[in-house]
Amino acid sequence: MSGRRVRADVCVVGLGPTGRALAHRAMRAGFDVVAIDPRPERPWVPTFSCWADELPDWLPDSAVASRIAAPTVWTTSEHRIDRPYCVLSKHGLRAALPLAEATVLTGRATAVGARRVELGDDTVVTAAVVFDARGLPSPGSRRTASAHGIFVDAERAAPMVGEGEGLLLDWRPENGAGPDEPPSFLYAVPLGDGTVVFEETSLGLRGGMPQRELRRRTLNRLAAHGIRLRGDEPSEAAHYPLDQPPPRPGSSMAVPFGARGGMMHPCTGYSVADSLALVDTAIEAVRAGRDPIRDLWPLRARLVYWMRERGLWGLGRLTTAQSISMFEAFFTASPRQQRALLSAHEDYAALGAVLFLTVARTWPFRWRFDLVGWTNRDRWVGYEYGPSDPVLDPVLPDDGGVGR
Ligand SMILES: Cc1cc2nc3c(=O)[nH]c(=O)nc-3n(C[C@H](O)[C@H](O)[C@H](O)COP(=O)(O)OP(=O)(O)OC[C@H]3O[C@@H](n4cnc5c(N)ncnc54)[C@H](O)[C@@H]3O)c2cc1C
Repeated sequence: MSGRRVRADVCVVGLGPTGRALAHRAMRAGFDVVAIDPRPERPWVPTFSCWADELPDWLPDSAVASRIAAPTVWTTSEHRIDRPYCVLSKHGLRAALPLAEATVLTGRATAVGARRVELGDDTVVTAAVVFDARGLPSPGSRRTASAHGIFVDAERAAPMVGEGEGLLLDWRPENGAGPDEPPSFLYAVPLGDGTVVFEETSLGLRGGMPQRELRRRTLNRLAAHGIRLRGDEPSEAAHYPLDQPPPRPGSSMAVPFGARGGMMHPCTGYSVADSLALVDTAIEAVRAGRDPIRDLWPLRARLVYWMRERGLWGLGRLTTAQSISMFEAFFTASPRQQRALLSAHEDYAALGAVLFLTVARTWPFRWRFDLVGWTNRDRWVGYEYGPSDPVLDPVLPDDGGVGR
């Protein structure tokens, strides 16, 4: 027990990418900052990507590891999205967010309040504002993003993904899943370190999709393109909830920020770029003595979240054929409308329009009832996946979904 007492202007609990960015920018803005994490120096595990235009101007180019000028989407046909996309450099991003002048405490917060944080070793931090950037809990049966990624040498990956190319959503029927099985798509991008990650991804299913199933599907896709693996390629797993709502205004609790604070996009599973872009809004609110939650979540942004949440519910009940039809409809929308769904924080008018048009253009007509939830609302709830395959899944247990 340390019994230490620490005071600060701003306390940030959790040093994932969003907490670290918040602590760094608060420090740069002249605030006295305390940041808390059980392992502050541990490298971040996932590979973070985003649209290049989402990143704030203050972030240096060194935070980006690789760029894709016009990523590809495969539905029934190939679409090139004329919007640069990038993979962030884990090392570069961290280096761009130094905390040299902040007080970094190594420890786990056991109580996080509006102005007071207690750590497991009895340290107590008091601050004018506390930000809670502790990330998300395990999803349980919530609507989930699940993915299994395999890191393949760029040379081997070339038949499917060449240098400067990227598959954002690949819905080609190559993953071996039948029409009566929950849908998933492939995401594959070069990471800028000589490897390409091939990641079969499922969005919106309650409780997610098991790793063994996603791995099997990834391997099927690679095999369909004649890509043979060495067998010792590293892999990564994703399994987190997509439906963490924005917090309500008020000063009775710490300010949730990042994935924990409603910034996890319900339909894409991305939160990092949006959070980085919102860091200065939060800090400016603190400087001006306003409630950061009000500035981060004006009515327009709440409306956007509400509509995206409906999109998430729709995603989670579609079949593969319906998903393809829906995405085919979506990717014929205007660039502003696509952006309104994929990334913009507050463009509610364009988002409303694109959601309406996507439903209206989804074909055949009767599938629209599934999309809006009038029919087959709980289509995949309780779906039983096949057992583990001892040959294909030698390292994966018969899991129900693996956390990070
Ligand atoms: C394989 C994979 C791929 C992904 N790809 C993308 C992508 O391309 N783009 C994207 O935007 N997102 C992606 N994500 C999601 C991404 O991980 C999250 O969006 C992001 O990590 C959220 O950042 P965060 O800082 O809010 O929370 P986290 O990264 O979860 O960080 C939370 C931090 O809080 C700390 N903490 C937890 N509890 C306590 C406590 N009690 N006291 C103190 N500290 C605590 C943790 O140690 C951790 O450092 C991916 C996720 C996975 C798993």
